[in-house]
Amino acid sequence: MGSVELDNVSKVFSGPEGDIAAVEDVTMTIQDGEFVVLVGPSGSGKSTLLRLVAGLESITDGEIRLDGESLTGVKPKNRDVAMVFQNYALYPHLTARKNMSFGLKMQGDLPKDDIDSQVEKAARIMGITDLLEKMPNELSGGQKQRVALGRAIVREPAVFLMDEPLSNLDAKLRTTMRTEIQELQQELGVTTIYVTHDQTEAMTMGDRIAIMNDGAVQQVGRPMDTYHRPANQFVAGFIGSPS
Ligand code: ADP
Ligand code: MG
Repeated sequence: MGSVELDNVSKVFSGPEGDIAAVEDVTMTIQDGEFVVLVGPSGSGKSTLLRLVAGLESITDGEIRLDGESLTGVKPKNRDVAMVFQNYALYPHLTARKNMSFGLKMQGDLPKDDIDSQVEKAARIMGITDLLEKMPNELSGGQKQRVALGRAIVREPAVFLMDEPLSNLDAKLRTTMRTEIQELQQELGVTTIYVTHDQTEAMTMGDRIAIMNDGAVQQVGRPMDTYHRPANQFVAGFIGSPS
């Protein structure tokens, strides 16, 4: 189970040049099992919002709830979420297998045999069984991203958080992986928040899209509804609605 409620969520970064409101008063609910795409231009606050859900940034104001339970004060490792990054973020000195088992080992409560079988199951799902003993520098971009996805699913999290996971891949592979991620999400039924700046990904992948600009969510809706009934000029321009 993994509904995510964002309740007046804000994040302000304070720096030498003053305050930056990276996320401003975002309220929305992502249903259990739903695939929501957060889309918007660079700097609109997408990554920050995802990092707030993961607990990698502290919230300035508001509350995030996972399955009705507040995440305020809950450490990242105790949140039932898994994040996939654009740059894969694999440990370069560990094999694919060890990259995938690292999180489970850190939890410290699973016997080694169970860890091995969970890693192997995730590897089968991702089609990377024959890559498990390889080091990251022996893998192609697409293979690295499969390992990163395998690492995310190995813990069977309630929520996937994906931050532009495909943007380092070439166009052809990106199309293949898009379908793969959608199939994976449906197979596992895992709530997914997927960040991209790519309108095509947003329009084709999500049950709903949330369009961000300047830290604020401008509109949330089904892709085609948003396309045909943009809430404002920014949305219309960004997703190329017919005028
Ligand atoms: P996006 O992912 O949509 O490109 P980000 O969430 O990365 O946007 O950034 C939103 C805003 O917050 C930007 O103005 C960015 O410069 C600022 N920002 C992000 N992270 C930090 C940080 N750690 N310190 C200061 N400012 C930050
Ligand atoms: Mg970003």
